[in-house]
Amino acid sequence: MNECLFCKIANKEIPSTIVYENDYVIAFEDISPEAPVHVLVIPKKHIASLNDINIENSVYIAKIFEAISIISREQGINETGYRIVSNCGKDAMQTVEHVHFHLLGKRSLKWPPG
Ligand code: 5GP
Ligand code: ZN
Repeated sequence: MNECLFCKIANKEIPSTIVYENDYVIAFEDISPEAPVHVLVIPKKHIASLNDINIENSVYIAKIFEAISIISREQGINETGYRIVSNCGKDAMQTVEHVHFHLLGKRSLKWPPG
């Protein structure tokens, strides 16, 4: 039994507001948004973190960035700009162990992050 939260969202066992989906990826609104646009883009295959990307599964990561290009256009932030964040491990405060890319935009974002 897979207890992974984001696998359950990908399988639609847990509801989410889906903004984009194809055979490889699903993108949905973050439950606790940090910006007017805050979408999480995840692979439909379970990959625990950035540390677990390899030659066997890297097509999912390529598909994620293809999707980000589409979603940023659909969300109207491709020209104003946006940020992609993927937290890996304890020091980066990764809280869900299924690799995910935050797409943040529609406001001015500070740099560097905390
Ligand atoms: P992390 O902290 O691991 O980089 O990001 C995890 C993100 O998942 C957080 O921004 C958090 O708000 C979001 N999140 C956690 N649980 C849920 C959920 O059940 N539904 C949705 N849509 N987002 C979630
Ligand atoms: Zn998972």
